[in-house]
Amino acid sequence: MRKELLRTVKRVVIKIGSRVLTDSAGALDLTVIGRICDEIAILSRQGLQVIVVSSGAIAAGRSELGLTYKLQTIPHKQAAAAVGQTRLMLAYENALAPNNLKAAQVLLTSEDLGSRQRFLNSRATLDALLGFGIVPIINENDTVVVEEIKFGDNDNLSALVTNVAEAHLLLILTDIEGFYSADPNKDPAAVLIPLVTGVTREVERAAGGAGSAVGTGGMATKVAAAKKAGKNGVATIIVSGKRPGIITAALRGDEVGTLFLPSDVGINRRKHWIAYTLKPSGRIVVDDGARNALLKKGKSLLPSGLVRVEGRFERGACIRLCGLDGAEFARGLSDYSSVEAERLLGCNSLEIEGILGYYYGDVIVHRDNMVLV
Ligand code: GLU
Repeated sequence: MRKELLRTVKRVVIKIGSRVLTDSAGALDLTVIGRICDEIAILSRQGLQVIVVSSGAIAAGRSELGLTYKLQTIPHKQAAAAVGQTRLMLAYENALAPNNLKAAQVLLTSEDLGSRQRFLNSRATLDALLGFGIVPIINENDTVVVEEIKFGDNDNLSALVTNVAEAHLLLILTDIEGFYSADPNKDPAAVLIPLVTGVTREVERAAGGAGSAVGTGGMATKVAAAKKAGKNGVATIIVSGKRPGIITAALRGDEVGTLFLPSDVGINRRKHWIAYTLKPSGRIVVDDGARNALLKKGKSLLPSGLVRVEGRFERGACIRLCGLDGAEFARGLSDYSSVEAERLLGCNSLEIEGILGYYYGDVIVHRDNMVLV
């Protein structure tokens, strides 16, 4: 089941906690960061897009400033974060460089993502960075946040970023193996739970949240993040970030850590909207090759597979995709109008511009804008 779910993942948010990134003295653990970046590079070579949400700025700054005590005031933490953020970025840059990857720093506040405009701007920037093959490294903009505009913790931030970036999976790296039935540091009978099918009250209670005063090694905020991602149709996996090979193992679908299934299995909001909210305004009949590529190979619809266009629709409209037998097998948003699509029947994507005199892209219906029905 995991393997099946993981096969659909093309964009992943990896959240890395401070305790994973620091050594016992509280300084940045460059060996761990190096290993994580090597694994990110493996994913990237496999064609996956990776976004990192990284903590560790305050810890790195504290160590850089030679402070041994626990920082108490918010301005002290903010100052440490400002010092540490550059160290953190440098560590990522240095570890990604041997893998021919570059990092980009993105600092956000919850107020940013609360504004529709900034939310969309952030999405566009992340899309552009990923398009350039760059690894965005996101953290909270600690300098400017006060309590009201704080995400509170990077677990929460990572769930929001998953939504902003329309990622397909949230992978949380922490300092224990996954989600346990109780706090494994306190209860020897605690067992690792490999699969959570829904974040119920019981799950929240075991995580130390919802009414309980004691946190389970920060598990409450992680479960809350999994719940939030799940509501958007995205699964979360919580694993131990200290374990070599864990990122690639998790993405391969190995039974590591804890998998939280999304509450709305496999169908995200956008697809839900396409499948259930929009009214199709036309039909495109495709040949068997295209039907097969869409149904079995997760491909987008190219003009070469088009056989017939029925009805009148504008660019961006929702249309039915049908096989030669006339039966609808998918629905999606068309990048070309019916008039344009008619002119593109059976052509190669490279010919689009020559035929129309302009070009919106290679595909008639992009995979991301399509649902199989
Ligand atoms: N932004 C903080 C830091 O970089 C981390 C906050 C958190 O981990 O929840 O140190």
